Amino acid sequence: MSETPTIAVVGSGPIGATYARLLLEALPAARVIMLEAGPQVTDRPGESVRNIADPVEKARARERSQGPQAGEFRASLGIPAGAVVEGMFTARQGTHLLDFGGEGSAHAGNFPAAAAASNVGGQGSHWTCAIPRPAFSEKLDFIADDEWEDLISTAEALLHKQSAAFSDSPVGAAIRTLLDREFGAELPEGYGVSTLPVAGDPQNDGSMRWAGTDTVLGPLIEPGTDAAGRFELRELTLVRRIEHDGARARGVVVEDLRTHEESFVEADAVVVAADAFRSPQLLWASGIRPAPLGRYLTEHHVVISTVALDADRMSELVSDEELEAELARRAKNPADPVAAVNRIPFSEPEHPYSAQVMYAESPPFPLPADHPAASSRWGFVNMGYGVRKFPRIEDGVTFSDVEVDYRGMPNFTIEYDLTEREEKEIAEATERLRRAGRALGTFVAEPRLLPNGSSLHYMGTMRAGTDPSTSVADPFSRVWGFENLVVGGNALIPTANTMNPTLTSVAIAVRGARGLARRLGDVRR
Ligand code: FAD
Repeated sequence: MSETPTIAVVGSGPIGATYARLLLEALPAARVIMLEAGPQVTDRPGESVRNIADPVEKARARERSQGPQAGEFRASLGIPAGAVVEGMFTARQGTHLLDFGGEGSAHAGNFPAAAAASNVGGQGSHWTCAIPRPAFSEKLDFIADDEWEDLISTAEALLHKQSAAFSDSPVGAAIRTLLDREFGAELPEGYGVSTLPVAGDPQNDGSMRWAGTDTVLGPLIEPGTDAAGRFELRELTLVRRIEHDGARARGVVVEDLRTHEESFVEADAVVVAADAFRSPQLLWASGIRPAPLGRYLTEHHVVISTVALDADRMSELVSDEELEAELARRAKNPADPVAAVNRIPFSEPEHPYSAQVMYAESPPFPLPADHPAASSRWGFVNMGYGVRKFPRIEDGVTFSDVEVDYRGMPNFTIEYDLTEREEKEIAEATERLRRAGRALGTFVAEPRLLPNGSSLHYMGTMRAGTDPSTSVADPFSRVWGFENLVVGGNALIPTANTMNPTLTSVAIAVRGARGLARRLGDVRR
């Protein structure tokens, strides 16, 4: 072990960034080399593209993040010409489908909306920034409550949590009042209708600077800081495999996607945070194949709808002057569609779902001019219920030793099915969504279940746990049997979870990074 340990971090999303930052802060002589297959798409590495004011620049940054679906940018990203797909159903802007239908596409017939982002910052440059805490059985049972409180508070600080974003919005407050009248009596103390915590920094003009992966990297990307001098971020660098002897990782083999040259990056520890499908893919490609790898895939299913707010009910709670002031404030930042974010959190046993209710002045799709809600001044809410998927060994991803994906990595197939348990909770959540819609106004889009994979929150494929027969990583996120190979990301979440998982994954990464720093520090002493 070197006096100045080098840590290779695979993937530049929020989880890789958490490791990089905490390790450099804890170990004054350490170096971190972060390896990212995608390009840097913002001036500040990993910044949220939502902060880009110019719509043309924003669209460009999103398209360049879309890997095989990056249109005219594909060739400049080192993506082979064969992986060309035109006219396909595409994923959310900034992401690309895993089963995109071209040469080297993954197979995900039962999980068709599965998507990823390939850029510096990962999905953390495109995310919506909702950071609720997990509750009840969503939490990890092997971390004691007092330690968890410290981990999750540290994660919230890294992500710049705002618990009361838009709390001064009178329209947002009126939405909460109407929802509380409908559901309040059924919800336990502390788990009622409330504002949704988000990650970002409110600006003086009332807008938000949304947190991206840059927020987590913090001093590592501030020129002239000590940490920045020990941090190297390599874009367009695909990690092909981890070199190891079965118990210790020695480093990683990387390909520069511009030149297609391969080289070896020697490291004292390797952290893999390359998302819930491509992290297990890399382990598999490296011959690290514990039985639970890729299994127990979960997401939260999403039932959504759009509702036009009822003018009579809203005007009882919000004056005309207040509405005008809110619309004028919003008009200053028309590029940001979200104005107030409310929620009903998960609670057990009565409410095992998470509802999120986003207010916007315009609907997410054009309404015909003669639609009764088309000229409504009160605006709309886009609402969804997240419904849990219970972990089962049958659901997961398998990798091929024969077929490769568009990047020449082992191709994969996702196997996934809903069971009666989930169907029942989806039906219950849909009924609640109907009630919520009726309480707020009139549906302009009826409740509907999104296709599997739509959540973008894929969990379980490298679960952390205390039993190596059902988990890939130990309680400190170390791959079982390895001294210095750590994994991170939503894939580690072993529970049935109904909500946005990034905060939880950052908290798990804080624990993993502290454990790794301790071990690297002890070895040096
Ligand atoms: P990612 O952010 O996915 O980063 C992984 C990176 O690894 C990618 O950049 C990828 O290119 C790179 N990589 C993969 N393979 C390799 C390899 N072999 N070599 C080198 N690099 C590799 N979560 C929430 O909690 N709240 C939200 O409101 C929310 N909204 C979202 C909205 C959208 C539109 C999207 C796309 C995601 C959203 N998410 C949200 C999910 C959130 O962004 C992810 O949970 C988070 O980014 C995961 O972080 P990560 O670091 O584990 O992985």
